[in-house]
Amino acid sequence: MLSVSLPLLLSRLPTVKAAMPRLDMDADLKLDFKDVLFRPKRSSLKSRSEVDLQRTFTFRNSKQTYTGIPIIAANMDTTGTFEMAQVLSKHTLFTAIHKHYSVEDWKNFAASHPECLEHVAASSGSGNADLEKLCAILEAVPPLKYICLDVANGYSEYFVEFVKTVRGKFPKHTIMAGNVVTGEMVEELILSGADIIKVGIGPGSVCTTRIKTGVGYPQLSAVIECADSAHGLKGHIISDGGCSCPGDVAKAFGAGADFVMMGGMLAGHDQCSGEVIEKNGKKYKLFYGMSSDTAMKKYVGGVAEYRASEGRTVEVPYRGDVENTIRDVLGGLRSTCTYVGAAKLKELSRRTTFIRVTQQSSHMFA
Ligand code: 5GP
Repeated sequence: MLSVSLPLLLSRLPTVKAAMPRLDMDADLKLDFKDVLFRPKRSSLKSRSEVDLQRTFTFRNSKQTYTGIPIIAANMDTTGTFEMAQVLSKHTLFTAIHKHYSVEDWKNFAASHPECLEHVAASSGSGNADLEKLCAILEAVPPLKYICLDVANGYSEYFVEFVKTVRGKFPKHTIMAGNVVTGEMVEELILSGADIIKVGIGPGSVCTTRIKTGVGYPQLSAVIECADSAHGLKGHIISDGGCSCPGDVAKAFGAGADFVMMGGMLAGHDQCSGEVIEKNGKKYKLFYGMSSDTAMKKYVGGVAEYRASEGRTVEVPYRGDVENTIRDVLGGLRSTCTYVGAAKLKELSRRTTFIRVTQQSSHMFA
């Protein structure tokens, strides 16, 4: 019989442990919009028309104040258009204008629609050419107060330095920056000078990041966790991506998002760029991710060899004027507030109790 003394066995254990591969696993359940519903609550509100969807925020680093309905059209070249901004700003909604307009385009827009400038941001990537163009736009359009710094992966040190650089150049502009999905990175970006952090990796309607890379974070949990970190520092967050119906927008606010950004829900309208396509008697418009083959061919002449396209191209049914969709989203949001007894959007997250569900709605006629 082989006998090994206990001290000898113990002395060997650390070696065995060290040889095992290290796997770090967060086994807590993380949720998406589809996993929850709001629990209705007794309310003294008589009608949804009483609900106030406007919010006023003062931003941590810029010290500037914003008042409006905190819904943002995504800075995709199909949805983040000047035409979209003209309609959305009438309702005090916000548009993150995409980064492919020229300085001249901006000058013309600012001259013909000065009333919109309160509700738009100029977007930029983190390259040198992006920064130069951003500086030129902000110089050409002094009333423009918002900057949206958008990279696919907000976790790089380079991006953190970039945020610091932009903050150094523009101390009084309100800076949105992202995307990230975890509290520690939200804090780092806020401490580096950003005011509003864009939260979302992989939830987008035309995003294939989760499929191509396996990276991501269920959006509802990302928003709950990131809002907590941001609010602890008096910063703000945008829930970016993953809203497929007005109920999802309400859930993002209920989870603690200060702003909600939408791409797919605003796609297919007159105010989106691109022509209406007719096929078999039906009308469509093209909608695509900003790192899809379509976008990369359009702007940089193709997908670089070292990277995979992380966006889809889809034909969405043509939906006419975006006014109707806005009404639908705002109507839904007001109704959510009445169901949980929130007289103002500001109160929604405090009045929110989510219940976990296994089904959202009946599929009988879907
Ligand atoms: P949606 O509202 O359509 O679900 O999501 C819009 C968001 O998707 C955008 O604001 C942006 O963060 C993200 N997005 C846009 N294009 C792409 C892309 O090509 N790849 C990835 N990974 N995300 C994208």
